[in-house]
Amino acid sequence: MTKSDYKQLSDLGEFGLIDHLTYSFQIKHSSTIKAVGDDAAVLDFKSKQIVVTTDLLVEGIHFNLSYVPLKHLGYKAVAVNLSDVCAMNAEPLQITVSIAVSNRFTLEALDDLYSGIHAACERYQIDLIGGDTTSSKQGLLISITAIGVLNDDTKPVYRSGAQENDLICVSGDLGAAYMGLQILERERRLFEQDASFKPSLDPYSYIIERQLKPEPRADIVSLLKHEKINITSMIDISDGLSSELMHICKASDKGCKIFEDKVPIAQETKDAAKDLNMNPIIAALNGGEDYELLFTTPLSSFEGINKIPGISIIGHISASDKNLLMITANGESIELKAQGWNALE
Ligand code: ADP
Ligand code: MG
Repeated sequence: MTKSDYKQLSDLGEFGLIDHLTYSFQIKHSSTIKAVGDDAAVLDFKSKQIVVTTDLLVEGIHFNLSYVPLKHLGYKAVAVNLSDVCAMNAEPLQITVSIAVSNRFTLEALDDLYSGIHAACERYQIDLIGGDTTSSKQGLLISITAIGVLNDDTKPVYRSGAQENDLICVSGDLGAAYMGLQILERERRLFEQDASFKPSLDPYSYIIERQLKPEPRADIVSLLKHEKINITSMIDISDGLSSELMHICKASDKGCKIFEDKVPIAQETKDAAKDLNMNPIIAALNGGEDYELLFTTPLSSFEGINKIPGISIIGHISASDKNLLMITANGESIELKAQGWNALE
């Protein structure tokens, strides 16, 4: 039978389905000794340290298929795990993918999901080494585990190493993914009220792409390594700058001071915030899903950091008895609170 003859998952059976979904994935790394096809994968990292991280995504909680195409969902599910590996200063190499699917999903739908997973594996040179496939009563669940390696004399970077006076740095720009989500939600509501409504998403393509297709900053990790920057602490920005700063300050037992006008926010994010009558700094602080890297480094790294394009120095670490402060554009000092994802909804 050709692929198009299959419509229902039950026609394929579990093993047929696993074969169908995984046959096109090529193995890229010599550390992958055995991938999909046995009871477990076999990996060989010699004497190197490895990092392992996992994420579970649940339909209706973490994603909404009414505006997230399955291909993007597959890509993003991989990307967010690779981002965690990068935030440890490691190089991501392998993933496992486990899915639970209800009978509402067709083979074509799972093909779309796996085409996104495949695209992310190609883009970031990742081996798919296994997973699990099962049914669910309702909806889709995806759990991805990512494995990365600490090469040569690379050390893992924890949240806990920030020192007083260290520079606080962030890659890329913040708040875009959150504003993208707000726009997608707005269009969905308008569409629900009037099915003939045609969304005009063109002016928002950057922020929507940031929401639907985040990119882990493996490039930043290698540039920092290349410039021999001493990273004292690092975390990826999944829940908003405020919350991630809190994690670093709490784990390092320090305070911090950041400056509103140093927080990188793209013009497209500011424009969308204006359209929705929001303050873009709120999206950067409390939004989330930017998957940029937040890290600290000693003052002596200033020149090295400036050699790397797309890194902003937004403030510095202060003593443990100090609060987490943001100096606003008009000079006021406000205390940062970790609002998390839900507080803005
Ligand atoms: P087991 O019965 O030991 O759980 P399975 O029959 O579930 O084994 O899986 C067979 C092989 O296919 C294993 O190598 C497993 O890791 C892999 N696999 C199962 N489901 C998936 C999936 N959704 N994506 C990738 N690999 C998978
Ligand atoms: Mg299994």
